Amino acid sequence: MKCPFCGSTETQVIDSRVSESGDSIRRRRRCAGCDKRFTTFEVVEMRMPQVIKQNGTRVDWSAEKIRAGFTKALHKRFVPTEYVDQAIARIVANVHALGEREITSRQIGEMVMAELYKLDKVGYIRFASVYRAFSDVEDFKSMLSEVERPGGGRKNSGRGQSAAGRRGRSVQSG
Ligand SMILES: [Zn+2]
Repeated sequence: MKCPFCGSTETQVIDSRVSESGDSIRRRRRCAGCDKRFTTFEVVEMRMPQVIKQNGTRVDWSAEKIRAGFTKALHKRFVPTEYVDQAIARIVANVHALGEREITSRQIGEMVMAELYKLDKVGYIRFASVYRAFSDVEDFKSMLSEVERPGGGRKNSGRGQSAAGRRGRSVQSG
């Protein structure tokens, strides 16, 4: 840590204190060059990364946008808000764990899809069909069969497979 008075890099920590909330450390330092004292703070960087959109532009991270994605995908479904909150919290934690200054909107979209897949298969299909912008009907069919595979969704395993066709059409109609 460079001395702000003389620029010397020879400084000595003479006192360290963790803040009351425990989220920062305050260090009192003494410069070996000019003997002046100064204080530094150490905090965890929890800033969210910038989001790189498909067209290459950068926008600020927006938890609201992610929530809006869930809300739209889960419209009139049976998923408690609490589960959505937890899903968003997991996404935020994943993004923090990456530790990157920038993240692509595609990466975020994949995380949202992974969470929706666990929460609600219909919501997953709705989101994925918009997100992946299926190029042809076969893509869409293969996704449906992926979701409908017996044992694929343990939570909903009691529900009838006959609902599949209806689901498919409701997705296409929006
Ligand atoms: Zn100094």
